[in-house]
Amino acid sequence: MAAAYDSNNIFAKILRGEIPCKKVHETAHSLAFHDINPLSPVHVLVIPKGPYVGFDDFSAKASNDEIADYVKAIGDAARKVGVDADGYRLLSNCGANANQEVPHLHVHIFGGRVLGRMLK
Ligand code: IMP
Repeated sequence: MAAAYDSNNIFAKILRGEIPCKKVHETAHSLAFHDINPLSPVHVLVIPKGPYVGFDDFSAKASNDEIADYVKAIGDAARKVGVDADGYRLLSNCGANANQEVPHLHVHIFGGRVLGRMLK
């Protein structure tokens, strides 16, 4: 079971406009922005706007509209930053064993170079 949502996490602050971000794409339920510490030439994070800690509570509690919006937003963000032609990696760390640092669901989009087998 996912931990309770902490509304003071850094992505909640970005969503409230308290911290700036380099926005890539925004929809009714999702926001995509560049990672502050990129691990590949293109490194974008896509987050749902709702208060979800990770994939576990999102997949259990989010509405079908939120889920559809989020999946589309990930693909649209990847196309916007131009990694669709050469390929990219999607990754979401979920919980302690995955070393999730920010407790608000995010999918990483890595691209812009040939990627090793593991990243993050
Ligand atoms: P995690 O390890 O999967 O939780 O990844 C968290 C990611 O958030 C890391 O890649 C960080 O570089 C990134 N990050 C942390 N703070 C910010 C920020 O303020 N803006 C953009 N990315 C951030």
